[in-house]
Amino acid sequence: MRTFYIETFGCQMNVHDSEKVIGTLVSEGYSQVETPEAADLVLYNTCSIRDKAEQKVFHRLQQFKKDHGRGKVFGVLGCVAQQEGERIFERAPFVSLVAGSASYAKLPEMLVQLKAGNRHVTGLSLDTDEAFDTPFTRRDNPHRAYITIIEGCDKSCAYCVVPFTRGPERSRTSESVIKEARELARMGYSEIQLLGQNVNSYRDPSPAGWDFATMLRAVGQVEGIRRVRFTTSHPRDFVKDIVDAIDENPVLCNHVHLPVQSGSTRVLDRMQRLYSREDYMRRIEWMKSARRNISITTDIIVGFPGETEADFEETLRLLEQVQYDSLFSFKYSRRPNTPALALDDQILEEEKTRRLSILQELQRTIQVRRNSELVGTIEEAFVEGYNQATGQWIGRTTQNRILNFTHPEHAGPKDGETLAGRYWSVRVTRAGPNSLAGEAVS
Ligand code: SAM
Ligand code: SF4
Repeated sequence: MRTFYIETFGCQMNVHDSEKVIGTLVSEGYSQVETPEAADLVLYNTCSIRDKAEQKVFHRLQQFKKDHGRGKVFGVLGCVAQQEGERIFERAPFVSLVAGSASYAKLPEMLVQLKAGNRHVTGLSLDTDEAFDTPFTRRDNPHRAYITIIEGCDKSCAYCVVPFTRGPERSRTSESVIKEARELARMGYSEIQLLGQNVNSYRDPSPAGWDFATMLRAVGQVEGIRRVRFTTSHPRDFVKDIVDAIDENPVLCNHVHLPVQSGSTRVLDRMQRLYSREDYMRRIEWMKSARRNISITTDIIVGFPGETEADFEETLRLLEQVQYDSLFSFKYSRRPNTPALALDDQILEEEKTRRLSILQELQRTIQVRRNSELVGTIEEAFVEGYNQATGQWIGRTTQNRILNFTHPEHAGPKDGETLAGRYWSVRVTRAGPNSLAGEAVS
């Protein structure tokens, strides 16, 4: 085994976990290849947050079943691995490695076992009080770097598998996070994104005892870092001091992703979300009355068991009241082990589909309006790349909006020269539901 291929499904936490897995494999002498066909070791870093996400990996494995006979070794990592455990060996007997994210620190030992020919290697213990801290992260993006500051989840939302797949909450020490942020700045990264299932539940395990707002302020002071983002925040642990920190320092991006899930307190109770609609709205008010214009985004689940038409209407009214800049919306999906499985009044699939499309249509009109308000303003865009098809540079504003723009002197990347990784002032000239367009002004 000398080469490996890895495919990642799911959230940014998984994407970043893969960066750490890749770094570990490379430090062990493996080289990464672009296709499963070219690899000796094929890894899938999986997601099981919804049923569809979970099915994807089994489809993939079926496609490559025949390659087992050609001497390839297959491994399933991440949430599906943790959730299904050794059952994966029965369902896909050609898989040799099954490991959840809480075991990645043991990856070098697991690789030794695979090399020795062991075809049933597992890493499934959730019994750890440490986060995966490694010096070997292999980052793909040369400008934006992720740092996981807290892993796992100690909440128990009735619909969610994460507490079962990622284990209990473990925060990294503030010292190791700040050291990593400084190293990243030295390496030329200018944007840092702090990650955690509930990033704002961060609690420094060292005697310094920092909370999340203290961590934000400190990362915002690291020399060379121009933008700091964070995701995802849980409303229960979202304190006003976080808004104050954003107000104090423009390096902290004025964007907060604050998943609400439902606008009905009755549904929130059944979901075991630990806050009411009123508690949530108080947090929105803190952001709306901040000095900076904070962009707010959210996650919504429609069709949770027992959600009535009136509950759903409350969610629609919440969207109108908050005026979110963007949202992710999902149909409720039944997940193994979760308390919601025991709830009656499951909603029919067609009804979930109907509610989802009404919600998305309403949000689309809100986004068109919100984005149109920015036409004529000048925004700072962090340039992420160039779109050959449209002839525009692809930028992102501090509020996390996509801002595509043209530049009179830089019609596109030329002779290796590119604007990617630079910050540019752009006048917004057009707005659509999902992005802005404009012209560079400096
Ligand atoms: N920890 C974050 C929070 O509490 O807001 C959310 C993390 S979760 C990985 C991302 C999103 O997936 C959730 O906010 C929720 O909207 C959605 N989700 C989780 N479980 C789901 C389920 N069983 N069915 C549908 N959507 C689900
Ligand atoms: Fe899942 Fe709730 Fe934990 Fe978020 S807070 S990861 S939704 S259990």
